[in-house]
Amino acid sequence: MPATIVVLGAGVSGLTTALLLARNGKHSITVVAKHMPGDYDIEYASPWAGANYLPVAKRGTPSEGLERNTWPELARLAEELPEADTVVYRRAKDAGTATGDWFAELHKDNAWFKDVVPNFRVLSKSDLPTGVDGGTSFTSVCINTALYLPYLASQCLKHGVVIRRGVTSHIAEAATLHHSGKPADLVVNCTGLSSLRLGGVEDSTLYPARGQVVIVRNDPQVMASVSGTDDGSDEATYVMHRAAGGGCVLGGCLQKDNWESQPDPNLTVRIMKRCVALCPKLVPEGKGIEALDVVRVGVGLRPMRKEGPRVEREVVRGPSGEEVNVVHNYGHGGYGYQTSYGASQVVEKLVGEILQPKARL
Ligand code: FAD
Repeated sequence: MPATIVVLGAGVSGLTTALLLARNGKHSITVVAKHMPGDYDIEYASPWAGANYLPVAKRGTPSEGLERNTWPELARLAEELPEADTVVYRRAKDAGTATGDWFAELHKDNAWFKDVVPNFRVLSKSDLPTGVDGGTSFTSVCINTALYLPYLASQCLKHGVVIRRGVTSHIAEAATLHHSGKPADLVVNCTGLSSLRLGGVEDSTLYPARGQVVIVRNDPQVMASVSGTDDGSDEATYVMHRAAGGGCVLGGCLQKDNWESQPDPNLTVRIMKRCVALCPKLVPEGKGIEALDVVRVGVGLRPMRKEGPRVEREVVRGPSGEEVNVVHNYGHGGYGYQTSYGASQVVEKLVGEILQPKARL
């Protein structure tokens, strides 16, 4: 008998996890989620991501392993899609700011990922724009989230996963939602920031880091980011050109504990100005932000967690006293795409550990 599994959540974490678990053909899997690919909602972080591979995990932490182990699969996928060269600039004055801390590892000349991504090199002084003290360049990828999330869902369907809308108020309740009608052997919790309030989890170390982005049709011809701005400690500047006609994402900010779902129009103007200054080729020579062709201005909440992502198993007691095996996979902050495969591999291992005694019976 295949093991029955419910994956709660259909963001990049839930769909990647469901896909990896389904690929071995040993499990019967239902994905249940309030939001699905195609939805744009403040409770659904995944559509708002850039999403590119700019590692930020501190060297030697578990997150380093998650980012390191995700690169090979993203690189494999990118072989059929355009790869993207990216440059990251460092300003000495950004050390210690919110944005400077966020990107601290990314901006090191001796970063741990220099042997993970291709073509890593430290930029020479002559490559640096005015006001920049250092920088590196390497080959990254930029995921078109509007295509990638449905792609993941379709790969899940191909491997027999059943995908359904549903909302639960307690993680244990998810075990009752398997498409067979029988109680699931285990639940994988991929609910992102909602784990802050989800019954049976209520992880008070989760908090939002608000990100505002402007998606434009313009082509910057290079992806770039810089360690900070002169507009405030929690504002950022990055330009990510999404693959396959996905437009160009101009960002942004990292506003901790800010739940505001509506764009701030002043911030939109600051983002556009900073991005044109960083990548002048976004607009024809001599033009300013009036030459940006805007597709959408959006806001997403990164599911930050004080100690980093939670990928571990737990037995949770439900409201009626029933015990449910749960594997958590949430809290991926501003790096959920670049940890997605690494984290899902850990989930696969934990699921194997839980199911092993059952297999011996
Ligand atoms: P989510 O995408 O939030 O999905 C949660 C899922 O759980 C949803 O389907 C939701 O409906 C479901 N759910 C929640 N509660 C319940 C419930 N009670 N019942 C049923 N379903 C429920 N990452 C990168 O790697 N690279 C980037 O360049 C990047 N840029 C970003 C830029 C911005 C502006 C933002 C906001 C984020 C960025 N990120 C980036 C981070 C990335 O988007 C997130 O880490 C990732 O999307 C988190 O995915 P998730 O699947 O864990 O959560």
